[in-house]
Amino acid sequence: MTTKQLRLRADTPCAVLVFVTIAVCGFSRIAAAQTSDGDLDPRIVKLVASVSEERLGAILRKLESFETRSTLSSTASTTRGIGAAREWILQEMRSYSPKLQVSFDTYQVPKQGRILRDVELRNVMAILPGRSPRRIYVSGHYDTVARPGGQGAANASGAPRDPDAPTPPPADPNAPLDNVAPGVNDDGSGTALTIELARIFSQSGIEFEATLVFMCHVGEEQGLIGARLHAQKAAAERIPIEAVLNNDIVGNDRGGGGIIDGATIRVYSEGPEDSPSRELARFVQRWGGRYVPSHKVRPMARPDRFGRGGDHSAYNQLGFTAVGFRESRENFTRQHDVRDTFEGISLPYLAQNARVNAAAAATLALAPPPPSVTTERGQPMITRAPSGYDANLKWTAAPGAAAYRVFWREAWGPDWQHDLLVGNVTSVVLPNMQIDDYVFGVAAVDANGHESFVTAYVTPPRTGTPIRTTGQSGQ
Ligand SMILES: [Zn+2]
Repeated sequence: MTTKQLRLRADTPCAVLVFVTIAVCGFSRIAAAQTSDGDLDPRIVKLVASVSEERLGAILRKLESFETRSTLSSTASTTRGIGAAREWILQEMRSYSPKLQVSFDTYQVPKQGRILRDVELRNVMAILPGRSPRRIYVSGHYDTVARPGGQGAANASGAPRDPDAPTPPPADPNAPLDNVAPGVNDDGSGTALTIELARIFSQSGIEFEATLVFMCHVGEEQGLIGARLHAQKAAAERIPIEAVLNNDIVGNDRGGGGIIDGATIRVYSEGPEDSPSRELARFVQRWGGRYVPSHKVRPMARPDRFGRGGDHSAYNQLGFTAVGFRESRENFTRQHDVRDTFEGISLPYLAQNARVNAAAAATLALAPPPPSVTTERGQPMITRAPSGYDANLKWTAAPGAAAYRVFWREAWGPDWQHDLLVGNVTSVVLPNMQIDDYVFGVAAVDANGHESFVTAYVTPPRTGTPIRTTGQSGQ
């Protein structure tokens, strides 16, 4: 029994301790499969270490060389504009490994909203097939925008900018938007991170359980268009997207307000508090923190920053689990501006953010899928049986699981406080634990300790039905 498996505080009831002792000793086989320094997989350690600052820098320099990657820019040139950029991204990812299936994810989009003319949109997508069709995404957006004054002027006006507010149309709406828009941080940084992870994952030699998708979206600056189109298609075709790690503005450590922070990264997730996206954010904090302890993950309990949007929300809107990575200290004067150049990037910082993504994506892609904890009718499988004062948890077996880890925390608290590895079972009783006072969840674990994100037991929302009356009284 390791202390890692038994993270119980002194105030835990004795009855639970007795149960825990019995439960954990029965699963030494799983403990033996884990490495001596806890749950870390040496293959993931090596993968994380293979992120290259130099490669990230070379990708960013190349992206900057296209001068603009505006979704509405010209596509004829082979060296400038979005046509040249997407072709380079496609060929670059193709060069990494024959295992990567790299293609354009193409849509014909007629003029609408901020798409000022009919345009062909192409996300660039690299698929690394796993044993299972369930998909883990790492993403960024490769399109850029630059407006007079940039994001700095938009913020300085006081009110949060409305992301859906129309931008003034150019004199000729059919003319390509070819003004310089380097977008090295927004979102060359997320794009470079995604491309670099496509390289290291496809060259790692690891056979992943889940399928990994490295996705460079387009049309983000026009209202998350490329991500929305892909999510729409995935929903229609029932493509099993399990998690999306979206990276947008993750390469600068010097805030415009003067504060420098190269040691932390923000991860935004939509609520409510135990939504799958919130659990994914907790997962990133847990596993990013283990494989990259020098970099702190700061989960943010909100969908995104005020008045700002990102591609993870396009997936959320269609019911997929997705989170957004954002640098901790932004420099708004460089965003959506000609000043968003390579000089505004910290490669060591971007590399740390890439390592956190790599650790989370690799762990998820090696782990079983998260278990289901609800009945077919959506009711959480949690009761007070057998005594009436116990926590009785049931779940549905996850394919490939060799064990499960039960998590709990006080019902007023953001982070899991306790966890307990149980065997290959689909129920557990924690004696004398009042289910009303704690939040409980379960993750699936394989024989080597790879863990899914947690599925929490949540009370389904109740809808009030109006009470009928037969008339007024008291008159
Ligand atoms: Zn962006």
